[in-house]
Amino acid sequence: MSNQLALFSEPAGAPGLDQARDLVARYGSALAIVVNMSGGKDSVRMLGYLREQFPNVRMYVVYADTGFEHVRPVSAETWSRERAAAYGLPLHVVRNPNTTFLSMVERRGMFPDSKNRQCTSDLKRGPVEVFIRSLPEKVVLNCIGIRAAESPKRAQKEPWKLNARLSKAGRRVVDWMPIFRESLADVLAWHKSTGTPFHPVYVYAGAGGYLKRFSCRVCIFSTAADLHAIHANDREAFDLVAELEQRIGFTLKSGKSLFQILGQAPASADQYGSEESPCF
Ligand code: SF4
Repeated sequence: MSNQLALFSEPAGAPGLDQARDLVARYGSALAIVVNMSGGKDSVRMLGYLREQFPNVRMYVVYADTGFEHVRPVSAETWSRERAAAYGLPLHVVRNPNTTFLSMVERRGMFPDSKNRQCTSDLKRGPVEVFIRSLPEKVVLNCIGIRAAESPKRAQKEPWKLNARLSKAGRRVVDWMPIFRESLADVLAWHKSTGTPFHPVYVYAGAGGYLKRFSCRVCIFSTAADLHAIHANDREAFDLVAELEQRIGFTLKSGKSLFQILGQAPASADQYGSEESPCF
């Protein structure tokens, strides 16, 4: 294997920092870091980490708008722009020009699910890939704020992996999860120590909100507890999805409409819903 190929190989169990440093040293201004930013706690923490580790590397903060992002009391886009600006960076907003979360569901007559996540692929990953292909830099670290501790499924992911689909025509792209080894406590502690606020929909650290996850206003992975909280705090979003269920005759959650879920108390173990960031 040549040295160049070796640099793109997968490290054994490492989160990738050494490999990233090697690539930065080797490619200089031909390399860029893309920071996938949702406005959620993990992507904000990841941005802080990357700015600390690579203050002089060209960095693009990219926000993929599904058309069903949080809008109150401050939009997810505005929040993300402010977080990027705190590090002196602009926010690049990308979206699928042909559809939004709600229009996609209406056109298909069904909601995505965990096995068929068209929302993630067509509204998040796809537009970010278009952005990456448009960059002048031919080596790209595509950074995603996934952590192993979020779930057993997440723990199986590879935190450093060549993206074969994007690595064509002289371009090399590595999908990297720089905070893969961090715990929830690590992320919360970083916010506290740096004085970085949480978006107001969060329950964390006095943010005053009602969710542990930062997702679309209603997400295919929203738990019963999440849906109760959304009904109480973002009635417009709840009603949009509940009415869509009735129009297309298909429910967000298997076997139960949102109104049926609302009629039952969520299990106590589900009190606060999942902590896993849903996308990517
Ligand atoms: S946040 Fe949820 S509903 Fe929105 S794109 Fe991601 S998985 Fe789909």
